[in-house]
Amino acid sequence: MKISMRSFMGSAVALAMLGTAFTSQAGVSDKVLNVGCEGAFAPFTYIDKNGQITGFDIDLIRQIGSDLGYKVNVRVYPFDGLIPALLTDGIDVIISGFTISPERAKKVDFSDPYYLCGLTYLTEAKHADKFKDYKKLDGEKLCVQIGTTGAMFAQKHFPHAQLRQFNSPPDTYLELERGGCAAVINDMPVNDFFLSRHQDGTKFASAHIDKDVDKEYYGIAVNKNHPEMLKEINRGLKLVQQNGNFGRISTNWFGYDITDTLKQ
Ligand code: GLN
Repeated sequence: MKISMRSFMGSAVALAMLGTAFTSQAGVSDKVLNVGCEGAFAPFTYIDKNGQITGFDIDLIRQIGSDLGYKVNVRVYPFDGLIPALLTDGIDVIISGFTISPERAKKVDFSDPYYLCGLTYLTEAKHADKFKDYKKLDGEKLCVQIGTTGAMFAQKHFPHAQLRQFNSPPDTYLELERGGCAAVINDMPVNDFFLSRHQDGTKFASAHIDKDVDKEYYGIAVNKNHPEMLKEINRGLKLVQQNGNFGRISTNWFGYDITDTLKQ
């Protein structure tokens, strides 16, 4: 009786240990990655009609987290609240269609780039000819999103324009539709997403700011006090690029594997 009890206890302990081993092997770990993003930057980070945060960036960071064994929590902030959240350790990383720039790099560290992008501007289609050259935007009313590279570009290149700053891209599009500005400036895929969703595809037109004037790479931002986290994120990015997950996720969102576009 004694012996069998002991062996029962023994197996229970062994089972419990096996359980632990299984748990950690299965990747259900206690490592947590707290991620911050904005909530209206489709197709990168946006809240879908079920109230869930989704987008290319969200799938990417969840995949990196899962391939590195992290539980990923995503929190939504206003765009200009992201850097403050990172600096106060409210989050571990920012992924939010976030452009790598020298000014931002003074405050935060950036991962290797994962997306190549540039600015475009939307105007009413009937004004497309007038604004063929982006320099013609100077002196106009322009709608931009607060704190973005689009807003900074406008401040720098269009000193005579009247800038109307909004919290999110949808607010800028609404204002354009109302006739409150001549153009909206934002990242190309975000403007394109709006165009593709717009009921009347002929009402608005888009044009590029030259690639030699504006070329942007998205990166994942990390607090400068946590260099080990930066290493981890770069390791994860490489991993998902090598194991095919990056290609699969980008094909899901953009219709093709964007990996090679990064070499441009
Ligand atoms: N890429 C732009 C920037 O970093 C816009 C990002 C965004 O609004 N989420 O400023």
